[in-house]
Amino acid sequence: MNSARSSDVLVLGGGVIGLACAWYLLGCGRSVTVLDQGSVGGGSSHGNCGTLTPSHAMPLAQPGTITTALHWLLKPDAPLRIKPRFDPTLWRWLLGFAAHCNERDCRRATAAKAPLLLRSRALIETLVREQQLDCEFAAQGTLYVFRDARYFEQLRREMAILDEHGIRTEVLDGPATQALEPALKPGVAGGLLFPGDAQLRPERYAAELARIVRERGGQLAEDTRIEGFVRERGRIAKVVTSRGDFTADQVVFALGAWSPALARMLDLRVPIQPGKGYSITYTRPACCPRIPLSLKEPSVCVTAWGSGYRLGSTMEFAGYDTTLNRTRLDALRRGAAQFLHEPEGPSMVEEWYGWRPMTPDDLPLIGRAPQIDNLVLATGHGMLGVTMSAGTGQLVCEIIQGHAPSLDIAAFTPRRFQ
Ligand SMILES: Cc1cc2nc3c(=O)[nH]c(=O)nc-3n(C[C@H](O)[C@H](O)[C@H](O)COP(=O)(O)OP(=O)(O)OC[C@H]3O[C@@H](n4cnc5c(N)ncnc54)[C@H](O)[C@@H]3O)c2cc1C
Repeated sequence: MNSARSSDVLVLGGGVIGLACAWYLLGCGRSVTVLDQGSVGGGSSHGNCGTLTPSHAMPLAQPGTITTALHWLLKPDAPLRIKPRFDPTLWRWLLGFAAHCNERDCRRATAAKAPLLLRSRALIETLVREQQLDCEFAAQGTLYVFRDARYFEQLRREMAILDEHGIRTEVLDGPATQALEPALKPGVAGGLLFPGDAQLRPERYAAELARIVRERGGQLAEDTRIEGFVRERGRIAKVVTSRGDFTADQVVFALGAWSPALARMLDLRVPIQPGKGYSITYTRPACCPRIPLSLKEPSVCVTAWGSGYRLGSTMEFAGYDTTLNRTRLDALRRGAAQFLHEPEGPSMVEEWYGWRPMTPDDLPLIGRAPQIDNLVLATGHGMLGVTMSAGTGQLVCEIIQGHAPSLDIAAFTPRRFQ
């Protein structure tokens, strides 16, 4: 089989997860078609912060997250915000999330995520080198910066858990942090450096993944909206799209934050909420940070590349809201201004929002779907989809090839939500 309409594998969704799956499957000799309603890489994979961070192995569902969220409930510019509204799906999701905000589940999720993050971070570096991906990859680590000494102490202690999983942290006092990163204003209480982290320009990474998928013979069907499925004898027989039907032996479901509605058509429960984040991209300021920064109190991520500079982050549960919220964009600017000599670049290039595919336990769904023999899920990568992309692609390929997965993926099973 080797035409766009009929292939060995159909990948639904052309973000970094779908594209990475396509790449590894093509490497195993499978013919692959990727379907996307827009341009590949145009979803959450476009304007994110582009950090590759095994250091973020701890889930959002931690003891204390609920208290913080409640504290911020009525603050429209808070880093984590739940927009108060009547939405039973959201409230069910929040109850599930709250149930995971305890020490035991937090440790379990960290233990499950860390190996995938570390593997994937290494695979991306290899991919960049071997395939010469032009995506401004750099391995300088990431730096958490604190102005509040108590918060610094608290996180320094909490981060000790990362050591147990082979994720190294260097603790720096205020002067050492500022010496390492002269773009910071005085008044820094301390820093945590994660030397194993890396960065890339995410829209370039997605475009380069698309290029190598095409070069390996993959078909990318853009502007092709998935509208339904035809099921026969416990399998997906056809994927119905705005451009006609597509068929394949195996189907990979990599639809990011759009997953729940399409999963419902297949009678699958995929409890994902869009965790809305924002970014502002500029040309490079003269006094530009050298290392990707996470400015902890305002929770702003700062990434600089040779080609530009981006402020990003914030997490808002506001449903599938497509507006650019000025208050939240301004919060990024204000947060950066507290920490940086030159918080904004000379010209603004893009203001953007993206929907992170957030699961209640902050773990992805990777594995065969229940009751549909030829469907593999690869979704729900939350705040870390870029970092987990290559590792997920490799695992999905192993599953489809019928090999035992090379990492323990029990915690990622889609069956946990059925
Ligand atoms: C502000 C922000 C900062 C972030 N920073 C980082 C970071 O520094 N590091 C990191 O690792 N991660 C980061 N993330 C998270 C990361 O962006 C996501 O986890 C990742 O992009 C998810 O990839 P995906 O392929 O699953 O989803 P997407 O990239 O959203 O792809 C899903 C695709 O499915 C397509 N689709 C949807 N519905 C249909 C349909 N009906 N028919 C056809 N196609 C359809 C969409 O068009 C889209 O292209 C950040 C996210 C945000 C919002």
